[in-house]
Order: sequence, then C-alpha cells, then structure tokens
Amino acid sequence: MSIIDKALEANRNYAKNYNPMLGKRPAPKIAVVTCMDPRLSDLPGILGLPQADLDVIRTGGPAVTEDVLAELIVSNRVLGTSEILLLNHTGCGFTTFTDHELNAKLRASTGDSSPAPMRFFSYKDPEENTREQIKKVRSHPWIAKDVPVRGVIFDVDSGLLREVQPTEKQAAA
Ligand SMILES: [Zn+2]
Repeated sequence: MSIIDKALEANRNYAKNYNPMLGKRPAPKIAVVTCMDPRLSDLPGILGLPQADLDVIRTGGPAVTEDVLAELIVSNRVLGTSEILLLNHTGCGFTTFTDHELNAKLRASTGDSSPAPMRFFSYKDPEENTREQIKKVRSHPWIAKDVPVRGVIFDVDSGLLREVQPTEKQAAA
C-alpha cells in the first residue's frame, strides 16, 4: 500500500474527532518562512506558539522567492499577521549542491534536459542567506514598516534558535 493510500485511510479516523470549529476563518498572528526540511515541522514545539497562530510558508532553503514575498504580503495584509520570522537551519540539503551541479547531475542521470536550467535556490551559508532574506522582505514596499522582520537559525543538533543580526557586525577599526 502506498504512503498516500495509508494516509487517506488514516484520515477517516482523524475526521471522526475533528473539531469543526477549526474550519472557521484562520487568524494567524505571525508568518514563518522556513525550509521544507522535516526537522522543522514541529514549529509549535520549536517556537512554543499555538499552531493556529502560525502562518507557515515552506520552501527549500528557505528561499524568499517572488512567490514567498507574495504569500507574506497576503499573510500581512489579508490575514493580518503582525510579525515575520525567517527560520533558517543548519545542515540544510540546499547547501550540499550548487544549482549548476544539480542541473548537470540530473541531466546526466535522466538523459533529459530541463527546458531551461532549474533554479533550485541552493546557497552556502545560512547566516548570509538569512541576512539576504531580511533585506529582501524588508525592502518590499507592501510589507508594512511596523511589521518586525527577524531571522533565526535553528541548530538541528541542539534544537536551539540563534538570532541573526540584519547587518554583519563591523570589525573594530
Ligand atoms: Zn533546509
């Protein structure tokens, strides 16, 4: 039986105890952009916030793409979230290849080319990635100025979050 078939079967039990109140219009308080990595799935646990408060946008990396920016704007302006958290992590799969390498590898292993080189949003350094994300989100005019945009890195070995300052600390002159 496929995983999806098992899941569809399990869902029939889930629905028996489902609280229909949860079907009301959501009112999340904070938008969280994080990686597709399964180690980041327990966000209520990692952040100590109720699931209903979290508007979660997941993407590889996480990359703040144009789509993610649009989702953040909807989260802020339509759903009413009032803070944005960019949640990066150590040990990210997207740091283990470059876009160029993965394109070449898939071309070779499948014998087929993608119509255009795929943009995988690979990156090297989670700290630098976080700073670029903060800048990108902050600079969009539709993200309200009074909405805090902060970035953190989740350490997959310790479970701890560490905040990244938006600009690199200047070395003392
Ligand atoms: Zn990742």
